[in-house]
Amino acid sequence: MEPIATGLVAVGDVLAPESSSTGGRPARWAATGRSGGVSVAPYESLNLADYVGDDHDAVRANRARLAAALGLRADRLVVMDAVHGADVATVEAPGVAPTADALVTRTPGLAIVALGADCVPIALIGDDGRTVAVAHCGWRGLVADVVGAVVARMEGLGSGVQRVVLGPAVCGFCYPVPVERADEVRAACPGDVAAAALVTCADGQPGIDVRSGVMARLGTLGVAAGTVEWAGGCTVEDPSLFSFRRDGVTGRQGIAAVRAG
Ligand SMILES: [Zn+2]
Repeated sequence: MEPIATGLVAVGDVLAPESSSTGGRPARWAATGRSGGVSVAPYESLNLADYVGDDHDAVRANRARLAAALGLRADRLVVMDAVHGADVATVEAPGVAPTADALVTRTPGLAIVALGADCVPIALIGDDGRTVAVAHCGWRGLVADVVGAVVARMEGLGSGVQRVVLGPAVCGFCYPVPVERADEVRAACPGDVAAAALVTCADGQPGIDVRSGVMARLGTLGVAAGTVEWAGGCTVEDPSLFSFRRDGVTGRQGIAAVRAG
């Protein structure tokens, strides 16, 4: 793969497991933050979302920079249109962004991208040397179980999970919620997941730590904790990240996954 460009929070390559056939290809994931793009305030600067009021040409240029960082042409990027649900779209060619909160592909050289600005952008690398996936998960995603849905889709395609990367997201202490919302999470999620996701903020109000909830849900699905890494800190606390809770009108960062072409 090509060298890494600047403007990324973190990037990593995952070698295909030895258990995969000789056709197994390495995968790359990349998590973005605010810096390294061309958008102007309040979207400065690497905003990847075309639905937040930013200039579309700027968004196109920013997406091209992400593609370049992955060693790809700009037209090899598929960005999801997330709606806080649990629908999973399998995409095998570039084109219109599917409305779904998780994307799965087995097409080499096709990068799939999940966006967020407090919600967790997730990259999942399959253990078959072919499959990669991305997902977007906030508290609604925990309740709808988008994580379970995307892992199930990967399994349906014959792939387990080799590596998971959780991109920048709001931490539980910066995400106080009404008691009723905490109750909703507790009612909908497995006990281990709710226990991991629900925290108590400084003023005694409940908070939701979505990344910890996602990690716990992966654990209930048999994905070992050592398989999961966190890239980037708390979006509210770190000014180098986009945060909807902190700033309201703002851009979106993202996480991309691609199998080598
Ligand atoms: Zn925080």
